[in-house]
Amino acid sequence: MIVDYHIHTKMCGHATGELEEYLAVANRQGLEEIGFADHLPLYFLPPDSMLAGYAMTKADLPVYVDAVQRLQKKGPVRVKLGVEADYVPGFEGELEKLLKAYPFDYVIGSVHFIDGWSFDNQEEIDRYSQWDIWELYERYFTLVRQAAMSGLFDIMAHPDLIKKFNYLPSRDLMPLYEDTVQVFKKAGVCVEVNAAGLRYPVREIYPAQGFLKAAFRQGLTVSLGSDAHQPELVGAGLAEAVALIKATGYSEITTFEHRNRVVKNIY
Ligand code: ZN
Ligand code: FE
Ligand code: FE
Ligand code: ZN
Repeated sequence: MIVDYHIHTKMCGHATGELEEYLAVANRQGLEEIGFADHLPLYFLPPDSMLAGYAMTKADLPVYVDAVQRLQKKGPVRVKLGVEADYVPGFEGELEKLLKAYPFDYVIGSVHFIDGWSFDNQEEIDRYSQWDIWELYERYFTLVRQAAMSGLFDIMAHPDLIKKFNYLPSRDLMPLYEDTVQVFKKAGVCVEVNAAGLRYPVREIYPAQGFLKAAFRQGLTVSLGSDAHQPELVGAGLAEAVALIKATGYSEITTFEHRNRVVKNIY
């Protein structure tokens, strides 16, 4: 079985298309199961300073949950209720409260902000020049590990998102990968293999194969996602993602139901 567990909706303000359109493409692609994982409201910002276009609003969250639940009755594709939640240190309590209020099947944890900098946003790309790229990677992976250890997430999103715009350090990244994977193991989280990187300057799946190899050695499980922000992109790059995980040694992916793992064979 192949699933797409990372699908956005227009509620986040930077994606297009109705939920039904995403479902229709999934059906056409022959996907048995998909999961919506739209951006959770930015719970770490004061209500009056919400950034527009980054995530759904607090008022939209119950509407989102409702819309996904309605789609679950539609078939034939099985639909899971997921969410992509930002990790910002110091706000774990707020996040926990928000996540507990809804019956999510899984929560994908993401680091999109480094000390308030939205580093994966094309419009903020000039700030890379202020960093030593190796130090930036260290800072990024420290946050990713902290996110995993928070215990709030089932899946760690696009684990090496920091490579998106192709700012790559000249040093060997394996030690960073190994340390991160060990923390993931301790935290009991699943690694997201996210095909969106293929569509950005780095032109590579998240995470890099070195990271995946380390994850496989540690016995970590993987999930699959396109990170579609438009209906046509449901399933995009998943053939490449499956080829990559198979080449790494994986024969199974992890799916979720009410935040419990359900392991499936890849076919
Ligand atoms: Zn997004
Ligand atoms: Fe993300
Ligand atoms: Fe996403
Ligand atoms: Zn994402």
